[in-house]
Amino acid sequence: MHELSMADAIVKTAVDVAEKNDAQKITEITIEIGGLALLNPEQLKFMIEVLSENTLLEGAEVNVEEIPIEIKCESCNYEGPTGSEELDHYMPIVKCPECENVSIKIIKGRECNVKNIKIEKEDEDA
Ligand SMILES: [Zn+2]
Repeated sequence: MHELSMADAIVKTAVDVAEKNDAQKITEITIEIGGLALLNPEQLKFMIEVLSENTLLEGAEVNVEEIPIEIKCESCNYEGPTGSEELDHYMPIVKCPECENVSIKIIKGRECNVKNIKIEKEDEDA
């Protein structure tokens, strides 16, 4: 499953960063997912929680932010968000909100990144 491999990569990245920073644990992680990344945010979040068991990420708060899709229309030159709020995460159909053309260029929306990681260090409370 797509979410599983993505979640695995995210957990590894987060743990790697935490270890390099001598963190005792990760308290919070924020991930951003584009509407066209073909990922279900809820499932991704769940899988990160499952995979983070027995790692520095265990118990961390997992935030998922969705990046709006932005397109450039090849027909009318419209550039900006698609405006489609209800998007099927597995079969996204993206078209121009101005002229409904489907020949468009995706400017934004395919991303899936770790945006922010909050860590806790041992000496911080001292
Ligand atoms: Zn258009």
